[in-house]
Amino acid sequence: MSDDPIRTRFAPSPTGALHLGNVRTALFNWLYARGHGGRFILRSEDTDAERSADASLTALTDALGWLGLTVDEGPEEGGPHGPYRQSERSRLYDDALARLQDSGHAYRCYCTREELAEARRRQLAAGRPPRYPGTCRDLSAEERAEREAAGRVPTIRFRVPDEGSITFSDLVLGSQTARLREIGDFIIARSDGSPAFFLANAVDDAEMAVTHVLRGEDHLTNTPRQLLLLNALGYGQQPRYGHFGLILDMDGRPLSKRRGGAMLDELRARGYRPEALINHLVRIGFAPPADGIMDLDALAAAFDPARVAHGGARHDGAALDGWQRQALDRLDADALWEWMAAGAPEDAVALPVDGPVFAAAVRPNILFPEDGWAWARRLFDPEAEPDSDARAEIAAAGPGLFRAALAVQDPAPTEDFGAWAKATGRAAGAKGRGLYRPLRAALTNAVEGPELGAVVPLMPPELVAARLRACAAD
Ligand code: GLU
Ligand code: ZN
Repeated sequence: MSDDPIRTRFAPSPTGALHLGNVRTALFNWLYARGHGGRFILRSEDTDAERSADASLTALTDALGWLGLTVDEGPEEGGPHGPYRQSERSRLYDDALARLQDSGHAYRCYCTREELAEARRRQLAAGRPPRYPGTCRDLSAEERAEREAAGRVPTIRFRVPDEGSITFSDLVLGSQTARLREIGDFIIARSDGSPAFFLANAVDDAEMAVTHVLRGEDHLTNTPRQLLLLNALGYGQQPRYGHFGLILDMDGRPLSKRRGGAMLDELRARGYRPEALINHLVRIGFAPPADGIMDLDALAAAFDPARVAHGGARHDGAALDGWQRQALDRLDADALWEWMAAGAPEDAVALPVDGPVFAAAVRPNILFPEDGWAWARRLFDPEAEPDSDARAEIAAAGPGLFRAALAVQDPAPTEDFGAWAKATGRAAGAKGRGLYRPLRAALTNAVEGPELGAVVPLMPPELVAARLRACAAD
């Protein structure tokens, strides 16, 4: 290993919102850099962005910041290897394309779409895997001039040697070998002159001195091509690559915006905590040494791409909710309230107590701010009514229990709920579930929920009395 500082990057095309798969890619690269005292780079791969992608890029930077994945070099941060937007780096790609053509590693291909499709059909019909047939590999200057005169606009292809193979040591999967014969000459510049993904991505990694590229398995077949390009361009310092399995949903399908449930901005708006998402994602295919929520620094110290599982990465919404539970349990009351308040609906009911006191009382019963606000309404809204289960429970208990409850004044239910409930039980001849379920239904409008001893003392005494009176009337 060289002593060069570790440099990793996250290189999204800033055209859409992040889903959990992209976030995991960013996370793994960030963890690797941070765990090795290195730097984490953000590069915007915006070469085929239709319009200025700056709004998406701002949203993306904001999302990374929210997750705690600080960017050391990037479009907004700057840095010694900028610019960090591909749309501003075309000179480098043009230069690489010219060098590859001058050295004979690349050539102009004049084949039309139809000709390529026809060749492909013939190969498939003959039972061969489709590859570029090499039509334009060795055109003479004359033949080229003819095609140009006929108005054909070329793409540029990389000349892959016919024989031999390329081997690299994948950081996740171990040794990988690709046979060159199976690769076929691939396009490195489109007919409008813009660089293809392979080229821009490889050139940038080399120019930005990226040392480690961790990315999804969908890029595994790109890596031999990119290594060929880097060799042909004479880049001695090449990144090491590692490929991990793409995250699938529980039905085994790739995550997608259309199916929902895995878009970062939606999960964030719902109220998921960043540390819940981070701990969930890191554990899809990787087992750090400790259970429970770990902070980013601890995860960085533990992260090792060689121990990331090969394939089979599943996103289980229930597992994520388990991390959300743990994340909420670790917040102090002020932070819990801050989180809940940030998700307050417009018609939020006024709390009769301090927010942190309320949030702590309902903590075990909520996963999202909206859950907290639903409890606020059930408990504190004078207009709130028992749900159907609660109505059935109240009816089954009958008005006698509530009359007895109203008669117990010392202590008041809001002073010492436990003592009050016991006294009510004695007076009404009820105990256990037969006592507490109807009381819960009458006071909280629901048959399940937070501990009564924690929430009833938060309620205004008049409201408690009014709810008991409503149930005592037959
Ligand atoms: N822009 C590419 C993508 O989002 C980057 C792939 C890579 O990490 O090399 O898939
Ligand atoms: Zn051709």
